[in-house]
Parts: sequence; C-alpha cells; structure tokens
Amino acid sequence: MKIPFLDLGAAYCELQPELESAVLTSLRSGWYIGGHEVDAFEQEFAAYTETQHCVGVANGLDALRLALLAMGIGAGDEVIVPSNTYIATWLAVSECGAVPVPVEPVESTCNLDPGRIEAAITPRTKAILPVHLYGQPADIDPIVDVARKHGLRVLEDAAQAHGARYKGKRIGGHGDVVAWSFYPGKNLGALGDAGAITTNNADIADRIRVLRNYGSRVKYVNEVQGYNSRLDPVQAAALRVKLKYLDEWNTRRARIAARYTVALHGTGLILPSVPEWVEPIWHLYVVRHPQRDRLQKSLSEAGIGTLIHYPIPPHLQQAYEGCGFAAGQFPIAERMANQVLSLPMGPQLQDADVEAVIAVLQDVARRFETTR
Ligand SMILES: *Cc1c(COP(=O)(O)O)cnc(C)c1O
Repeated sequence: MKIPFLDLGAAYCELQPELESAVLTSLRSGWYIGGHEVDAFEQEFAAYTETQHCVGVANGLDALRLALLAMGIGAGDEVIVPSNTYIATWLAVSECGAVPVPVEPVESTCNLDPGRIEAAITPRTKAILPVHLYGQPADIDPIVDVARKHGLRVLEDAAQAHGARYKGKRIGGHGDVVAWSFYPGKNLGALGDAGAITTNNADIADRIRVLRNYGSRVKYVNEVQGYNSRLDPVQAAALRVKLKYLDEWNTRRARIAARYTVALHGTGLILPSVPEWVEPIWHLYVVRHPQRDRLQKSLSEAGIGTLIHYPIPPHLQQAYEGCGFAAGQFPIAERMANQVLSLPMGPQLQDADVEAVIAVLQDVARRFETTR
C-alpha cells in the first residue's frame, strides 16, 4: 500500500487539457508580465472572495510583507501573531523591521485566542495578524473588535483558507487586508509560486499595486522605494482554470474530513474541533496524540504519508534565537508542535484510500490502548 500525503500530480492530471491549453495560450501571447490574464484573475478572485480589490503578487510571504508595508508598519512597531503558525507569518513582520509578538491559540481550534490579545498590546502595537490555520477561520469578529478599540490594523493570513467562510461570509475582507498564497500545495495552488492580497480598502490596494512594481505607477517614475513582486501571467492563467474547480475540490475535502471525523471518534485521537459559525475548507486534517511520533511511524510503515504542521514553533526556531524567547514560554504552541499530525487530505484522495488510513489508525489506536 502507498498513500501519499498529497498527490499534486493527480490534481494536475484531472485538469490537464484545460490547464495546458490555458498555459499555452498565455505562452504564445507574447506578453509575460502583467496584462490580461493577471487582470482577469484579480477580478475573478476579488469576486470569489466577495471583496472589492485583489492585487496579485509573487508569493504568500510577499503578500503579507507588502500588506504590512502598505499599512505603514516598520521599524519599532509590534505586530501580534499566533504562537503556532508557519514561520512565514512571523518572517513578514520581521522583514518590515517590526517585531512579531506571539499570542497563544485556543487549544481546541488551534486559532489565535481573541481573549489573550489585549494583554499583549503595548504602545508600539500597530496590527494584529491572525492566521486561518489548517483552513479553519479564526474567530475574526472579536479580533477586529479588539483592534478597533485600540486603533490597530488587522491583516489576515489566509494562505490556508481559500473559500472558507466565517459566519456565512467568505474570508477575504473581514480585516483591513487579507494575504493569500497560491503555493502549489494550497487549496488554490499555482504551478509554481504565486500570491495575492484582497481588501475593501482602495487606498491599501493602490499602495500594494505600486509597491509590487518598483514603487512605480507610471513606467520609469518611482514614487517610493518599491519591490519586484509580481504575479506572472502563466501562473494567473493556471489559477483562473483552478479557481473554477475550487468549490468542488473543497467539497471533496469536506467529505473526506467528515468521514475521518465519524470513523476516528473514540480512537483516542484528538480530532479537529469546528465551531458552528465557521465553514472550514480542510486545507489540512490535523489530529493530535501524545504519542504522535509513534503514530506517524506506524502509519509510515503501513505506506501512509503524513506531515507535521509544524514541528518547531517559530519562537523556538534558530531563526529567532536571541529575540528573548525561551522553551516553555508558549506551552500551547509547544504542545501542538509535539502532538499534531496531518493525515492524507486532498481532492484526488480516493475513498478506498481514506478507508485504508482509517483502518490503520483504528488498529494502531487499539495497540496504544493495550501497551499503555
Ligand atoms: C504557505 C503559507 C505562507 C507563505 O506562502 P508562500 O506562497 O509559500 O510564500 C504564509 N502563511 C501560511 C500560514 C502558509 O501556510
């Protein structure tokens, strides 16, 4: 048996004729930066996310970084980030010269705890940067409330949340600006690196358009010291094809998640907890277990691929050595790093494979019971 964690080749195969025709058209157009495909994708993704503006950029990290810069965040400022996230969330803050200030998640949902934010606010705090982790929206209303009360901006990291809904409304414009990654493994993935921001704030959208293009609106006229961070038309063409299938593919993921949740109940695994006011898109299906490493080894021996999102929390990474963090300082994030395991999940995962994963997990769980 061989069940991969995620099969990107199978995803490509399913849309191969349409993807190749769109990419070929783009290649033959003679237009390789900006232009029709990028404009069209920006319009379509803005419509999809129910927002007014979308600006394509080179990748998700740049989307976060340019969004922070567009909101005027820089040296000496503090930005509140989750203690449990992919390191890109923190790096975007650091790259602006600002300081990431970690706040712990709600343990059951793994998302930023609105109740812990106020204690982390200082006179230097400029923004709150929640992440919709694993495809499940963070509790954004109380986060925005805290931000408004203290005059802070809200930037959402939606790199794992394409299509997810919070209280019925799609992620895309709850906060001031929302950053997206189209890294190939994301629910809406390009054929390489790509990213975007969405916002209902025309001024922020405009600033990001200028920042992504050398600080220039008119060729060879530079208003600010900008960057080169553009979404290329070949990626935009591929993304336009895949956007049409996003809802259907998210529905397939939700079916798999529902099956895991029913079948793994009572196995001793801690399963994802979904508040009734969110509609997740199951970028990942993450279970927790105190003997995670043993669990992962058993699955691997059975030919089942899993991943850990993420094995080392940002504050314990060497990259943030010397920033004053210590082991034990963020116990929820640290416990998650030791206990989380992402099961195979994706729109091309076959029902028989899902059942095989479940069978192995049920068997392993039984063995854990008897050897405890
Ligand atoms: C993937 C991801 C990013 C970064 O996106 P890239 O396109 O790889 O730069 C940022 N934040 C989170 C939570 C992610 O999962």
